Amino acid sequence: MTVKVAFPHMGNACIPLRALVEALGAEAVIPARPNVETLKRGVLHAPESVCLPFKATLGDCLDALERGADVLAMVCGMWACRFGNYGLIQHMILRDLGYRFHSLLVGRENAGEVVETMRRLLGPGFLQRVPKALALFRAKAAAVDEVERWTRWARPREECAGGADALAARFLKELDEASTVARVREVRRFFREEARGLPLDGKANPLRIRLVGELYVLLEPSLNHDLVRKLGSVYRVEVHPVLSTYRWLLGPLWLDPRIQLSGYLARRRIRPYLPYVLGGEEHMTLSGILTARRDGFHGVIHAFPLTCMPENICRTVIPGILVGGRLPYLDLCFDEHTSAAGLETRLEAFLDLVASSRMSRQ
Ligand code: SF4
Repeated sequence: MTVKVAFPHMGNACIPLRALVEALGAEAVIPARPNVETLKRGVLHAPESVCLPFKATLGDCLDALERGADVLAMVCGMWACRFGNYGLIQHMILRDLGYRFHSLLVGRENAGEVVETMRRLLGPGFLQRVPKALALFRAKAAAVDEVERWTRWARPREECAGGADALAARFLKELDEASTVARVREVRRFFREEARGLPLDGKANPLRIRLVGELYVLLEPSLNHDLVRKLGSVYRVEVHPVLSTYRWLLGPLWLDPRIQLSGYLARRRIRPYLPYVLGGEEHMTLSGILTARRDGFHGVIHAFPLTCMPENICRTVIPGILVGGRLPYLDLCFDEHTSAAGLETRLEAFLDLVASSRMSRQ
């Protein structure tokens, strides 16, 4: 019988992760995209003051178990923040609720144990399938990244709002269905051809905003009220998050040395302001703010969950970085009570400020 493996959602990470799981010989169970209902269920069973991603991913796990998953996979390890313990605690909560399943907690510290568990679940031949599975995983992660980057660039420039998103959605579906690296390359080629044909406003000169903050809130649209799409399509702003699904997936596996290099440079850059590793994305947040002007951004948005330890420490450092820099900055704190209307009001006021700051510099 084929083992059914599930993992929580985060942006479009499910596309390469599904390919990895299936190429290793298991069936991937993809929970519904996080929504009000799954978040409510996560909130109900999670500790009250735990960070928002814990609650959302717990809701995902509940949904996956009800769809028949018998293995729950989660990254774990020596994080200084809570993330390293997410899987362990979530799986304890789920077992207390009466669910029965296997845990696949993947971390650098327990690599041997992970291989042993996978051999037990997937059969002894699984190791031979690893190189092909990783190649497909990497190809899909890179293709998803290309589609996401292009979409963020095209949204504020397209003549007809929604065209870039429709094109991206169609190609993300095709990428999800591709079963070989050759097919992924072909889909990428077709995507580039069609993307070139999208009617754009040649005179558009959108504001450029850098988005920094906690990984899950940055990448999961259901948690950030679709912030990235709204900034592009509704407010016609070009948004650049400092983090991406590609970075998150390939970084820990050392499949792209550029990720390690940029992380190392970011840590070096922020050392005068924060000489410690907090265990989250603090180096990318602070480094993203320090280099925003140099990289041609007109403003910075900092998005993070309410009780996030690393990002709240960053908030104490950021005013010192911004002193005298005249860089418009907005921080957005998310929890399950964040309202879309409140968020929009703040975004509108901030973007007015960014636009007037750009005009005063011209
Ligand atoms: S980075 Fe922040 S939100 Fe994410 S797990 Fe750590 S403490 Fe929680």
